Amino acid sequence: MTQIAEPARSERAHRAAKRYIYAWGDGAAEGSGGMKDLLGGKGAGLAEMTRAGLPTPPGFTITTAACNDYFAAGERLPDGLWDDILEALHEVERSTGKGFGDPSNPLLVSVRSGAKFSMPGMMDTVLNLGLNEATLEGLIRLTGNERFGWDAYRRFIQMFGRIVMDVKAERFDEPLEARKHAHGKDARDTDLTVDDLKALVAEFKAVVKADTGRDFPTDPLEQLDLAIKAVFASWFGKRANDYRNSQKIPHDLGTAVNVVTMVFGNMGDDSGTGVAFTRNPNTGENELYGEYLTNAQGEDVVAGIRTPSPISQLASDMPEVFDEFNRIGRQLEQHYRNVQDLEFTIERGRLYMLQTRDAKRTAAAAVKIATDMVDEGVITPDEAVGRIEPAQVDQLLRATFDPAALKTAKRVVKGLNASPGAAVGRAVFDADTAVEWVGRGEKVILVRIETSPDDFHGMAVAEGIITARGGATSHAAVVARQIGKPCVAGSAALDVSYGSKSASCSITGIDFAEGDWLSLDGTTGDLFLGQLPTVQARFEDQPELQKILGWADGIRRMGVWTNADKPEEAAQARSYGAQGIGLCRTEHMFREGDRLEIVRGAILVANAATRAKAKAAAGESLTDDENQAVATFDSAMAKLEALQQGDFEGIFKAMDGLPVVVRLIDPPLHEFLPNLEEQLVKVTRAESAGGASEEDKELLATIRSLHEQNPMLGLRGCRLGLMIPDFVKIQTRAILNAEIAVKKAGGNPIAKIMIPLVGHVNELAFTRRLLEAEATAVREAAGGVEVDYKFGTMIEVPRGALTADEIATEADFFSFGTNDLTQMTFGYSRDDAEGGFLLKYVEDHILPVNPFQTLDDAVAGLMKTAVDKGRSTKPGLELGICGEHGGDPDSIWKCEAIGLDYVSCSPFRVPVARLAAAQAAMAGAERDK
Ligand code: PEP
Ligand code: MG
Repeated sequence: MTQIAEPARSERAHRAAKRYIYAWGDGAAEGSGGMKDLLGGKGAGLAEMTRAGLPTPPGFTITTAACNDYFAAGERLPDGLWDDILEALHEVERSTGKGFGDPSNPLLVSVRSGAKFSMPGMMDTVLNLGLNEATLEGLIRLTGNERFGWDAYRRFIQMFGRIVMDVKAERFDEPLEARKHAHGKDARDTDLTVDDLKALVAEFKAVVKADTGRDFPTDPLEQLDLAIKAVFASWFGKRANDYRNSQKIPHDLGTAVNVVTMVFGNMGDDSGTGVAFTRNPNTGENELYGEYLTNAQGEDVVAGIRTPSPISQLASDMPEVFDEFNRIGRQLEQHYRNVQDLEFTIERGRLYMLQTRDAKRTAAAAVKIATDMVDEGVITPDEAVGRIEPAQVDQLLRATFDPAALKTAKRVVKGLNASPGAAVGRAVFDADTAVEWVGRGEKVILVRIETSPDDFHGMAVAEGIITARGGATSHAAVVARQIGKPCVAGSAALDVSYGSKSASCSITGIDFAEGDWLSLDGTTGDLFLGQLPTVQARFEDQPELQKILGWADGIRRMGVWTNADKPEEAAQARSYGAQGIGLCRTEHMFREGDRLEIVRGAILVANAATRAKAKAAAGESLTDDENQAVATFDSAMAKLEALQQGDFEGIFKAMDGLPVVVRLIDPPLHEFLPNLEEQLVKVTRAESAGGASEEDKELLATIRSLHEQNPMLGLRGCRLGLMIPDFVKIQTRAILNAEIAVKKAGGNPIAKIMIPLVGHVNELAFTRRLLEAEATAVREAAGGVEVDYKFGTMIEVPRGALTADEIATEADFFSFGTNDLTQMTFGYSRDDAEGGFLLKYVEDHILPVNPFQTLDDAVAGLMKTAVDKGRSTKPGLELGICGEHGGDPDSIWKCEAIGLDYVSCSPFRVPVARLAAAQAAMAGAERDK
């Protein structure tokens, strides 16, 4: 380790070529709210608060550009930066009247990370920097508080040792716990005496020496240099990398470093530290919400080491400070026009603001706050729509526990309702086990005494999290809320033993061990034993969400339709705001109940009957067998036609007045028959036991005859309709007769018939001709009732997209089937890849995302080609998407960009899609400005 020589200030060699340092309040960070890129969120907030005249401790920010240039130069501070740091430090010395390393009046600082996007607890911070034996004496002399001085020093060595010198945390925890225990089983750190603390300092230094081979650095400037570099390095630490991956934060932003004058919350009972939100981040209620600890430093609150008091307690403990804090909170909320998450410290009755940032909030709080702020005139409806994340809408529609089951449920413990939602899983006691169990298909609840950033990977995969210690702003609570996991925190009665992987509640006496089923209610704070049934959240009970989505509807350009095959699904989607059905997969109706038997009966004779019909059409006479095949086939088809007509009538009624796109049969016929191997085993067994039935042997022969090596590229979609036309003919008749029946009953059905898997215009032209003939026949038989319909196609084969101008001559509309289009563009089997190599591809960053979840740019490019070509033939051609991507927010943005008219998605994703489509439209309008 190199000793840093401080250059004499008068002979300073040079300044850095770039401006890397911004002191708060020097006017340079003008409009610093907009300088988050450079100053990070924390630095920008401190600069802004200082400019607004709020009490902040003096300090400065080293920019994110410095961090990036540091790594670009091979982990070397850019030339001149160190001199600039010393200059800025000197300014802090001037404004505080203290000297860094000066034993007579020592300045201590904290060195804090701060990226553009909040990454709670994922990067490092060092407090109490500047302490050594000499400055410690000065600190004690000035404060007259020996205990405080030694406590600050032991904390500094502990923190610096862990973060900067890479000593394992438990190496410090062990001697600390031992000293606490000497005062009794339940002793706290505040019970440690001056002698304990002195002994701990010696023990900690010995640990550092033993583990690193170095003495603990005593030169404050060396401490500063090392701490700044350690904070830079934490940008690429595992925790931070994992977090950025999970939150899709770019890796090249870098972190800023804030050097902040230390203020002390641990100087006695007139001091304290806390975290508070200007509104309740769980419910959105307009009330100051948070907690604080007297006689403590910031990390005590966040790490959940002691369970803090609610912020309302401050009103009775220190009424003037509470009033000032409340006033500042309101001022900051007005200034940022958003709920603020505040950190503060009170040093001997004087309040200091350490941080302000937009608060993370639960989904329920987000919609309440957004609608309240519109009502209060603080933000516009458009801004409210922009502030809700699509994932939050998803969370609001998540399940809760069935109230009937709760009546008899066995409650283990009640803790703090830190993040809402119902979660069911098996107990695991550490993050690695959580990841391992989830990897083998289990659902888990992560049980911890408290969580730290090192547990993030386990929290991310768990269904829910419960901790024994820590409050509503503890790490577990903050992170769980952010990633949308149910969490119960601070269940003080829960005794958790990592050693025996078990926990028990000192109040109820109930215990559980690893692997036991748990049901966790983050909305109420309850933990139950066993697997409780859940019920779906009700959209109609969420007026604020509906208000936001109503505003979204006024903003979005694209329609939001749904994929539904049943009247109940259609009705549900409609209640969620769907404006039509973009995909009704008719073959799903073939599988219901006894219909499968009818379909199988038809398939068995389909080829023979089709050949016989062709023969008859050519004027040839048929054999008895052929006549029999035709009769069997036609009878099955007639039954199916009647059944399907009933299905369509139900759907048309549920979607009265809205368009319904009915997709004709798509999958290969073998999908309706038993599996080849199973049937083979059945027949072989039966043969060896005395003989298989003719029926089973015939079925086996048919399955064999329909067997294809690549069925997804085989006889399906329009190809099937062209080879065995009766399936699509009866479907067309069923659709149109259903339309007639509903119209006669006073309804307003809007039918659109969609022909799948078209790659060549002739496939569509031939099919269309075939079906137009059926339609004409239905129309003639309708006797005066007008029959309206449109014929369109799915664009899901790359050749279809590339020849969309030709295809458009035969199509009234296109709907992009992006499941197949992705499969065929990548050449990945959609049935196999997702469970196989694709996961690994995404993990290893070979692909940025799973292209079956989020539309790949090349696939979107192919769609754009089809959009342009299709519209070049028919300018008003209606264009939609009905693949799974239609409900994925990122994909919806791409659909907006390529100019689709609507997206169609599963009923539960309709609300999310309404929001995402509005946000995409706003972003598009912004870009076009
Ligand atoms: C598609 O391919 O995107 C589509 C909607 O059709 P299916 O999933 O039924 O093949
Ligand atoms: Mg398809």
